[in-house]
Amino acid sequence: MGVQPGGGAASGRRSQIEGSDDLSAGILFHRQRGGVENLLSANIEPHDYQFSRKDLHRLAQADLIVINGLGLERWLEKAFQNSAPTRRNSVVEIFAGLEDELILGSQAHLSDRSDPSYPVAASAPPNPHVWLDPRLARCAVTNILRALQAADPAHATGYAVNAAGYLARLANLDAALEQALATVKGARIVTYHDAFPYFARRYGLDIVGVIEPQPEVEPSLRYLAGLYRASRANQARAIFTEPPSPSRLARQIGRDLQLPLAQLDTIETGPLKPTAYEEGMRSNQLVLLQNLTPDAQRPSP
Ligand SMILES: [Zn+2]
Repeated sequence: MGVQPGGGAASGRRSQIEGSDDLSAGILFHRQRGGVENLLSANIEPHDYQFSRKDLHRLAQADLIVINGLGLERWLEKAFQNSAPTRRNSVVEIFAGLEDELILGSQAHLSDRSDPSYPVAASAPPNPHVWLDPRLARCAVTNILRALQAADPAHATGYAVNAAGYLARLANLDAALEQALATVKGARIVTYHDAFPYFARRYGLDIVGVIEPQPEVEPSLRYLAGLYRASRANQARAIFTEPPSPSRLARQIGRDLQLPLAQLDTIETGPLKPTAYEEGMRSNQLVLLQNLTPDAQRPSP
């Protein structure tokens, strides 16, 4: 998500800020001398990041530290405990202020499944993948806008104009997804990690199981047995793994359950460009339609 979202004429400084657009890569930097950088490089997944001393130095240089929050960057909380950011810094949690009832718990969407042996924690921590609902992503734009205006009042109007432009793009994206995915509403799917409940809630998909309930932690055999039962009982239609390629485990599960495998982008990693989020979401739309639409109506790639 662009800290300075949207296009338009901008000063050198603002166009640099516009250049970073990955909502969920953990952190963006807004430097007094102009520009934004991600703490995590494009291919690094945020759940299990290994924080380094060099990163601490980069944090101390930043005027604004933008994080997803909701527990996505636990490694950062630890780093802050060890060395508080300098006073110049300000940390912005992009989903701060979102109504509690809109925040889903991890795997809360699975807890009403009929199989009592399917292990799902009763009181789950919040699920951080809010950005995958473009309507809720509005909150991120607004929070980042306010933070930038406070940090850099001289450009407050420019930030507001570009944020408004990006909000309009989000609305267009959401409307397009809603219309396109109406044809696969109610489809039951399995995903790799628990990244898609917000997306599923928004567009009416039904996630009946996730392969890796804790990101980057291999699931237990007991858990997998529950997943197999839930997938079969609920007649899951496809398994959606994540780039770059399906893991051996996912391929095995696909064979066992005789389900097709495809890939959805969690948009946790990816290129740093202003349209990255929209492109990721549109590509997910296409993948879902290709794999969930009955053969006769399937769109071509
Ligand atoms: Zn994730």
